Amino acid sequence: MLDAIKDVVRKSSIHVCIVNCGGCNGCDVECVALLSPRYDLEQYGIYVHNNPREADVLLLTGAVTEQWKDNLKRIYDKAPEPKIAVAVGNCPISGDVFAQEGGHVNAPASNFVPVAAEIPGCPPRPNEILEAILAVGPQAIADRGREQK
Ligand code: SF4
Repeated sequence: MLDAIKDVVRKSSIHVCIVNCGGCNGCDVECVALLSPRYDLEQYGIYVHNNPREADVLLLTGAVTEQWKDNLKRIYDKAPEPKIAVAVGNCPISGDVFAQEGGHVNAPASNFVPVAAEIPGCPPRPNEILEAILAVGPQAIADRGREQK
C-alpha cells in the first residue's frame, strides 16, 4: 500500500540529490537556500534529499578531488535510470580556483559521468540552479514514464 502511494506521488515529482565532489560548500549553501520560503522549491514538486538511490537529478558541486574520482561514478551508478546530472558552479565545470598545475582536482565532472547541464558561477545564484532543475526535470519525468511502459 505504502509503495503504491509512493509510486503515485513520485510520478510527477522530481527528487534531487546534492553530491559534493570536493568543493568549498558555497554551491551547496546556494542549493540548500532553495528550500527557504523565498524560493520554496517544493512548490514545484521538487524534493531534496541525500539518497542517490531515489534521485532523478544529481546536483554535482565541487572540483572532483582525488577521493571523489571513484566515489562520483559509484554514486552516479547508484541512482536509478533514467537520471540526469547537473554541474553546479565553476568547480565541476572547470575546477575554477582549485585547478592549477600540480593540483589535485580532476574537473570537469563530465570526464567521469554524463552531465546534462552546467550552471556556471562561483557560486551560481539559487534562482539559476532552480531554472536548471526546472529545465531538465520534465525530461527526467518523461524518461521515467517511458521506462515504466
Ligand atoms: S564554484 Fe565557487 S562556491 Fe562553488 S564550490 Fe567551487 S569555489 Fe565554492
